[in-house]
Amino acid sequence: MFNVALGTLLCSCSRAADSDQPPATNRSTATAFAMAEAPVESPAASGDAATVHAALPTNSGAGPVTAVSAALLPASTGKLPVLMVHLVTDTDALYTITKARFRHTLALLYAHGYRPITVAQMIDRRIDVAPGMRPVVFTFDDASASQFGYIEKNGSLQIDPESAVGIWLAFARTHPDWKPRATFCMLSGAEAGRSFFGNKGIEGQKTEWRFRKLQFLRDQGFELCNHTLWHANLAKYPDAFVQEQIARGQLAIDSAVPGYKVRTFALPLGVWPKNRTLAQRGQWRDPKTGVVTRYNYDAILEVAGGPSVNPFDPSFKPLSIRRFNLQHDAVDSLVARLERTNTGYVVPPLSR
Ligand SMILES: [Zn+2]
Repeated sequence: MFNVALGTLLCSCSRAADSDQPPATNRSTATAFAMAEAPVESPAASGDAATVHAALPTNSGAGPVTAVSAALLPASTGKLPVLMVHLVTDTDALYTITKARFRHTLALLYAHGYRPITVAQMIDRRIDVAPGMRPVVFTFDDASASQFGYIEKNGSLQIDPESAVGIWLAFARTHPDWKPRATFCMLSGAEAGRSFFGNKGIEGQKTEWRFRKLQFLRDQGFELCNHTLWHANLAKYPDAFVQEQIARGQLAIDSAVPGYKVRTFALPLGVWPKNRTLAQRGQWRDPKTGVVTRYNYDAILEVAGGPSVNPFDPSFKPLSIRRFNLQHDAVDSLVARLERTNTGYVVPPLSR
């Protein structure tokens, strides 16, 4: 059983976004947003496994597989960290890290042979990381401006160099094999600027920039992941509400990037709905348009836990992926421990 106290604790970083009851203004904004965008019934619903895999290089953010053929990789043991990031600000707390710590973490991981991949790549075992290197997955939750901000300068938009995406891209410019591979689990209609990385002028972010941000992430090769409409505690609501929250989050992504196959879903607060299967698949019919949106995910992200097992491990469960919270010096300790105990996953050499 889950409880509210635990759920609140698990995502205290974005208290406003995590509120179970958005204010009336927010609810209407979210509704207006969903209605304003042309609803498109997701092609994801009917995709079988073969379709999903075939679509991966262009739609999942995994990009071309260049270094290692998945078919040549033997089953292996070893942990593969799936890191969870919330706010990137000026303080270190449970769900907040400083910009300096984020920069430090990228440099630390790089120096220890880690290279980023997306959740979609992980579950497909399409790991385009050179043999001898260590894959790592970054997941970003709640779609705050601290993750991806724009600055307007002389009439043009620039990525805020102090936002996580700005820091990531700057690091990649000096470390070319640090690719744009991470998974962004987004809210599309939450309050406090948690609507596709900011809206309504909150933290300087304009509402009309939101879709552009998603398109940029997709174009770079990052993965877009659904984190619901406004971050409700799904255990507290009936089945129909659960499906509406999830489907409308997906619908909004489709409005920004039409046809995008959303494959990964992150549970708000790490809390499962009472009917657990609804986290993975379900549908919602828009009462105004009659359009039905279906979802059927290949990966579900939980919150707490240590480093995940690697996807070649028989115990790997893509519909229940644990994540490791990036807080204080936890990742420093994790990297040291995995090396000391030789329990980290390393991409093996080509077998032939
Ligand atoms: Zn969240």
